[in-house]
Order: sequence, then C-alpha cells, then structure tokens
Amino acid sequence: PRLTVGLGTCGIAAGGEKVLTSIREEAQRRGLDLDVGFTSCVGMCYAEPIVEVALPGKPRVFYGDISPAKVGKLLEVHVGSGQPVEEWALIQVTDGAEPYPGIPRMEDSLYFRQQVRVVTSRLGLTDPESLEEYIATGGYEALEKVLSQMTPEQVIEEIKISGLRGRGGAGFPTGLKWSFTRNAPGDKKYVVCNADEGDPGAFMDRSVLEGDPFSVIEGMTIAAYAIGADEGYIYCRAEYPLALKRLRGAISKARAHGLLGDNILDSGFSFHLHIKAGAGAFVCGEETALLASIEGRRGMPRVRPPFPAQKGLWGKPTNINNVETYANVPFIIRRGGNWFASMGTEKSKGTKVFCLTGKVKKTGLIEVPMGITLREVIFGIAGGIQEDRKFKAVQIGGPSGGCLPEEKLDLQVDYESLTAAGAIMGSGGMVVMDENTCMVDVARFFLNFTQAESCGKCTPCREGTKRMLEILTRICEGRGRMEDLDTLERLARVIKNTALCGLGQTCPNPILSTLQYFRHEYEAHIRDKR
Ligand code: SF4
Repeated sequence: PRLTVGLGTCGIAAGGEKVLTSIREEAQRRGLDLDVGFTSCVGMCYAEPIVEVALPGKPRVFYGDISPAKVGKLLEVHVGSGQPVEEWALIQVTDGAEPYPGIPRMEDSLYFRQQVRVVTSRLGLTDPESLEEYIATGGYEALEKVLSQMTPEQVIEEIKISGLRGRGGAGFPTGLKWSFTRNAPGDKKYVVCNADEGDPGAFMDRSVLEGDPFSVIEGMTIAAYAIGADEGYIYCRAEYPLALKRLRGAISKARAHGLLGDNILDSGFSFHLHIKAGAGAFVCGEETALLASIEGRRGMPRVRPPFPAQKGLWGKPTNINNVETYANVPFIIRRGGNWFASMGTEKSKGTKVFCLTGKVKKTGLIEVPMGITLREVIFGIAGGIQEDRKFKAVQIGGPSGGCLPEEKLDLQVDYESLTAAGAIMGSGGMVVMDENTCMVDVARFFLNFTQAESCGKCTPCREGTKRMLEILTRICEGRGRMEDLDTLERLARVIKNTALCGLGQTCPNPILSTLQYFRHEYEAHIRDKR
C-alpha cells in the first residue's frame, strides 16, 4: 500500500508534515510495510491536509482534512480491511481500476468536472521531485522531439498555431514574442522566466513550481532552442522557499541526466539555467525591472522601446515569459498546436490556471478552459459563497485588476471580455467578496498595496497613488466630501494614462471599477459620515 501526503505550501500550512510523521510512526507501531511519500497541491486547498491511499490494483482515494488523530482509523480501515473510509473521502482516481462505490471519481466530482488540467495535470498526482515520474508521465518527450525532428522555426510556428498568449497578465502572443527574439541580431541571447508572482490572492506560479518544476525547465529549454539562446534565468521571489528548493533540485537532476547544460541529449544544443531569488519587490514583476534586478541593479522599470526582445539582459536579446506560459510549452509540442487551439475562445486559446480565494466555500487552485463564465467558476467549481450569503463582487487580476459585480457573473473569462468589463486577466487571482464586504475598503486595501510597492521613479504613480490613498482613507474614516469622488476619478485616469510602467498604469483599476459598479457605497460613506 502507498500513502501520499500533499506537501505543497498549503498542505504544509495546514499541518501536512505532522500527518506525514504520524503515518510513519503509526505504520511502524502496527508493523505495516507501507510506501509513504509526498506530492504537491492537487488544487483542493480548502481540504488540506490531503492524504491519498492506494492499494495495489485499486483506485487512489483522496481524503481531506486529515489530522494525526485520524491516521489510525485510515490505516485500520482502508489499509487493514481494504475498504475506504467513505465519510472522509473526497475523490478517487481510478487509473483504469474498478471504482469504489460511493466516492466520486476525480473527473465526475463537482470540483473537477468543469476543469481541464494541462499545466496542473501532474499536481497532487506525482512526486514533484522525481525526474523518473516526470518522464513516466510524458516529460521530456517534447524536448526530445524538438531536438531530433524540428527546426527552431518549426517550434515557433507550432506555438503560433496553438494561439498561446502570455499567462503573466498582458496576454501577448507567445509565438510572436519568440520570433522577435529569434530575429533580433546578436549571437548571445537569453530566456528568462518571470516567477516573481506577488499579487495578493495569487499562487498559481508557486503551485506549478512546487508541483511540476520539470515542466517549466523543459518549456524554457525548448524556448531557448527556438530563439537561439544558450543561457537562462528563473527569477523567483525569495518568499517561495519550497518552490526554490524544488527548482534547484530539478535543475541539478536535469543536468545530471544530460537534459540541461552542454550538448543536451547529444544534439549539440547547450542551455545553462540559473536561479535568481528576488527580494520581494512587487515592481520586479515588471519585465525591465526584473532584468535590472538580475543584473544586480535596483529593480526599477525603464522606458520601452527598446523592448527586451531587442535589448534585454546585459543589453542582449531576451525572451521573458511567466511560469504558466513555459509550463504549457511541452504539452503543446507533444500534442500539437491544433489540440491546444481547440480549447478556449476565438482569441483566447487553451486553459488558464486561477486561484480561488475569499468568501467562496472551496478555495484552491483550478485550471479551466478559457471562455468559462465567472458564475460557473464561483457557483459551480467553488460551490458558491460561504454560509450561503449573497455574492457581491469578484476581484480579478490582483491589485491591477477590477472588481466585477453580480451582473457580470455570466461574463466569459477571456482576455478581451475581462478588459472590456474594467478588470484584467492578470496572472489569475480571483478574490470573491460577499454582501458584508465594503467595496471602498477593498479599493483602499489594493491601493495601499500598490502605493507601498510603487518604485517612485515617475511622478504620476509616486505622487498620484499617495493622493488617491489619502482621499480613500478620508472617505473610509467618515471625513469624505462628495467632490472627492470626482477628484479620485480624475486622478485615477491621469495615472492610468501617464504612468511609466504597468504597475502605475493599472493600479487605478480597483478604484475605477468600484466607482463604476459600487459608487453608491462611496456615497453612503460620505453621506452617513462613517
Ligand atoms: Fe515606478 Fe510606479 Fe512609475 Fe512604474 S509607474 S516606474 S512603479 S513609479
């Protein structure tokens, strides 16, 4: 029998390591010969600690909310008598075995049935530190195919066919971006992975790095081959110690097996990959600030053009994508661009990973086809609002995103629809608010964050965010005036139109969207002086 504990950051925070220790001790006490291991987050963060029990030839059963006190019964009943403890079981993964009655199969369960797992397909199901398991589940097939059968131009063409767009927020077509760097003059080029995820409520990149680090490394290696780079950097925030540990381990294993470094798979192609741990500045998620930080300079954005594709790291052509974008690449190469393009909407292809947080019943990590509606996500997958209170708004896209009200629940989740509604796709954070949430407080919370993270280089963002925060604080403390609302709106529009980088250009979004959809709450604060 094999017992596997979810040890992503969410599992560890919920006490997964204590459960793992307790399983080992209890098995020893009972004289059981068990194979005890760990995996990453399967996505059901709301039910951590999660333990999977698998008997030979039987489905894998996932149990939620397992504490050390429950371990004895799990071993006695499931391992001992071969019958699952139905009341604790969340789902089962049959892998072709006869399913247990009374436990939903993963693909039929309410949480997973609308999901399409591509970049998250290994999460919670394999050992993220095992190169053998990665290879056994199709890992490195794409790199092998690329190096033995495809020219760099063919790789770029395949990515263009897939319609993949940057998953970090802006949604720029990935194949086109790669071709810019490939066609830029110069024999030294770089690929960079932006893993500086810093939005409140967002943990997509962390989960992918913790759960499937090899897929990001393989995706970057393919990108390097396509654009003609021999060196790359993963810029990952230092607040992600587990992601960094798993990345370091994966890089050294890939190197030891000839999958990274000189003459990869005897193809003559070489690629050297380094990790740079960021120091937690949100602005370093902006690509030019990120490059400055890798170079050892202060992380501040600069004017573009020149774009990194022409003049990037140390002045050389550089391709920058985020974690999820690179993680999609091996799947696209293996299964074909047309397969990927068959999912999603006309302009937003494939799937997107989102983090569900806030007042929903089931918080966690999900991957859904583009074009799914917000209602399907919030009331379908996430099970609706806690204690069946009323939904008020969903904040999409982090501090740069917008707050959408109930009448937007049937909006399709794709780049264009979200932008038209005043939010953005961002990297994929979804924070859900219920009827008890004050939307002015929400706007102040996000602005407080961006104001603190503003690098101070340009006046509209440095001064403008401060002035907006002063006005919002005044309103929240019952000292607001009706004319403040016009000033707020005017300031927000000026900053949006004149700030130097994406941080400043998008930080007014929470204010503009709450003013658009929840103006009455601002007016009530001012009128009632509270
Ligand atoms: Fe810095 Fe803000 Fe200007 Fe960006 S917009 S460069 S974060 S001051």
